[in-house]
Amino acid sequence: MFPRRPTRQVRVGDSRTGIVRLGGGLPGADGAPTEPAPVSVQSMTAGATHDVDRCVTEINRLAAAGADLVRVAVPERKDTQALAEIIAQTRVPIVADVHFHYRRALEAVEAGVHKIRLNPGNIQDRGEVNQVIEACKARGIPIRVGVNEGSIVERRDKQKRQRELAAVFGAHPRGQMLAIMVAKLEEYLDIFRERDFHDVVISAKSMDAALVIDAYAQISERFDYPLHLGVTHAGPRETGAIRSVAALGALLARGVGDTIRISYASDPVHEVEDGLELLWSLGLRTRRGADLIACPTCGRIQVDLFTLVQDVRRELAEKVTVPMKVAVMGCVVNGPGEAEGADVAVFAGDRRGIIYVQGERVANVPEEEVLRRLLAECLGLQARVERGEARLGEKSVRVVPPDPLGELGSGLEKIAAGGVERAARLTVAGRARGA
Ligand code: SF4
Repeated sequence: MFPRRPTRQVRVGDSRTGIVRLGGGLPGADGAPTEPAPVSVQSMTAGATHDVDRCVTEINRLAAAGADLVRVAVPERKDTQALAEIIAQTRVPIVADVHFHYRRALEAVEAGVHKIRLNPGNIQDRGEVNQVIEACKARGIPIRVGVNEGSIVERRDKQKRQRELAAVFGAHPRGQMLAIMVAKLEEYLDIFRERDFHDVVISAKSMDAALVIDAYAQISERFDYPLHLGVTHAGPRETGAIRSVAALGALLARGVGDTIRISYASDPVHEVEDGLELLWSLGLRTRRGADLIACPTCGRIQVDLFTLVQDVRRELAEKVTVPMKVAVMGCVVNGPGEAEGADVAVFAGDRRGIIYVQGERVANVPEEEVLRRLLAECLGLQARVERGEARLGEKSVRVVPPDPLGELGSGLEKIAAGGVERAARLTVAGRARGA
């Protein structure tokens, strides 16, 4: 992992919501270096902001899932009018997303919003942008300044847009688009610098993952503001997750990126869940809850592992709050090596499972008992950890591979005798149940 790129630090929130710091490492206003903040996760509500009850419910769900910041769109006056009530009913910093009208930004600031997202290219009058900057400066409210690939060319004049697009998508489409995105961002940031306003977070989004990587790599070298990473219009979760993780993972692994938003055409709670999982996987945040590892299964499998893994995942997500590592492995042939370091592990055999807790074998139970017993052991370990009687990661699972006639019956002759066929049937049945 590359060291984190040092940036200025931006603070979002208030005493009621708590302060979320973005970026850091460079000296702050007092001249002392700022402590780099953990990479934060944000998301955006999907419903109309003026529907206060629905909006508050969405924000609270996102915050419960782990969102550090939540953004709401404020396209109309009735949306900014709802903000004060929404802020009063929630406990996470709120970002107002302003598009074409500077007055929405001023109204949002007045309502007590914690951050503004603004694309100065969408506000024609420089004086209007300046009013927003001054209002935010007076209240210490940061502004995200962003360029999106889809919005950097003129949209109102169709002929002009066609000319600009022709220029953009010439012989080297990515290179030209990249140059335009960086140039536009430079142009926008000049407006803020002229007014000595540096409480800024920047973004340069595209739906093209490779372009996102190139764009953020460029702007991270050019500007010292915290970076908001995202792939815009990434699509449904099934494909959007790959696209987002490809781009954001590559950047974060290089130390680039201070706050992320994964955007899906689905329930935004998944954006938060997947954003956190990305940060946990890269070791950029401390994991909250269990870390589940599971084998992909192969011809040795003799239980319905896919269903078991989904059941375990759901139960752990609901009940385990400490970052214990739990392994669900299809057999004891390769499983032990792959489960090395797990706090709790189960190795399946012919319709049975052997359960280990911190290196100790605690049970050998029939397949239908595995889920209940595994969870009981996880909750028991969690209780001991919370009482200070055990420490996670202290002992790894060590399993002596069985002989072919071992107690799990994992020998090749059993597989040859029908275990594989049975596992295939179980797997199909599991998938049909939506496992
Ligand atoms: S743990 Fe066993 S069943 Fe699972 S993939 Fe490895 S060898 Fe196959």
